[in-house]
Amino acid sequence: MEELKCTSCGVGVLGKNFVRFECPACGKEEIIRCLPCRKNLRNYTCKCGFVGP
Ligand SMILES: [Zn+2]
Ligand SMILES: [Zn+2]
Repeated sequence: MEELKCTSCGVGVLGKNFVRFECPACGKEEIIRCLPCRKNLRNYTCKCGFVGP
């Protein structure tokens, strides 16, 4: 089973409220964010180097 972790904080998000979307810069990597990170607008860093809120 795939392990889903928040891209920002690294917390496992399975069974929790989270969003997943493609990186707006490269469109290849998947960004996963847990609800707290989304609310607090924590930065995430894509593997391509893109940093976004
Ligand atoms: Zn998080
Ligand atoms: Zn990217």
